[in-house]
Amino acid sequence: MTGRFSGKVAIITGSSFGIGRATALLFAKEGAKVTVTGRSEERLQGSKQALLDAGISDSNFLIVPADITTSSGQDALISKTLEKFGQINILVNNAGASIADSQNRAGLDQGIDTYEKVLKLNVQSVIEMTQKIRPHLAKTRGEIVNVSSVAALKFAHVRNPYYPLAKAALDQYTRSAAIDLISQGIRVNTVNPGVVATGFHESCTGLSTEESQKFYDKVGANKSAIPCGFSGRPEHIAKAIAFLADRDSSEYIIGQNIIADGGTSLVLGFHAQLPQK
Ligand code: NDP
Repeated sequence: MTGRFSGKVAIITGSSFGIGRATALLFAKEGAKVTVTGRSEERLQGSKQALLDAGISDSNFLIVPADITTSSGQDALISKTLEKFGQINILVNNAGASIADSQNRAGLDQGIDTYEKVLKLNVQSVIEMTQKIRPHLAKTRGEIVNVSSVAALKFAHVRNPYYPLAKAALDQYTRSAAIDLISQGIRVNTVNPGVVATGFHESCTGLSTEESQKFYDKVGANKSAIPCGFSGRPEHIAKAIAFLADRDSSEYIIGQNIIADGGTSLVLGFHAQLPQK
């Protein structure tokens, strides 16, 4: 396939499902060679099938089962990508989740063990991947796109404090990394999604796929929550990630956030209580 990512090699973390899978598909359709990763073999098979169904040759993608919070998983991702494709141009730090408290403690009573797990996945793994990939992206004047959340914005999240905290830390890390890495020609930016219908809600609530879909349909129909009138699809976020990963499109954008949320962040709080037309 040819396109704006022809000749580029991209590692997309958390690409066994949801936003990451859609991003891997979009990048591959636009010419990139992609490394697809996640922990679940079954989900990875789903991504492999989606790539094959889209006409992507298996010489243009690599599947690496790995836990992104482990040093060995991070190292395997980078070394296996280099082994198969010889270079790395783009890293999308997309793997993330809001992890439920191990003992069902609520709000500020949630344990430090939960805090540590949430921070390890959503922030620490990004820091470690950035440190490890830096020399490789310096060689190619590459791009990093982090996937944060509107949860990082300045609103209180009483029921679930650690995930928003982690994503706010990720946004701040993006700014510091962007200024440091641009000295080597590497650009770093972030996409902050709002509600997107993926496996996210299912994994953090333990609800079934059907129940989660009902949640996405219901919240999407509520214009005081999502003014555009529907929950986002993974492809919406993939397109924003692709824009930031494509130097031709976004060369002058350094260390910034694109909020892709159907308008949610404009109506949170006070405005949501006002009568709607
Ligand atoms: P999904 O649950 O659909 O996908 C999450 C992906 O992350 C899966 O591929 C999963 O793979 C991977 N993952 C989770 N933990 C690990 C781990 N320890 N090691 C390796 N991979 C891991 O969620 P989304 O696609 O929605 O989430 C993508 C990103 O978008 C996340 O950073 C999330 O915080 C963010 N986001 C999502 C929103 C939404 O409404 N959906 C809103 C705002 C932000 P596997 O299960 O195979 O390990």
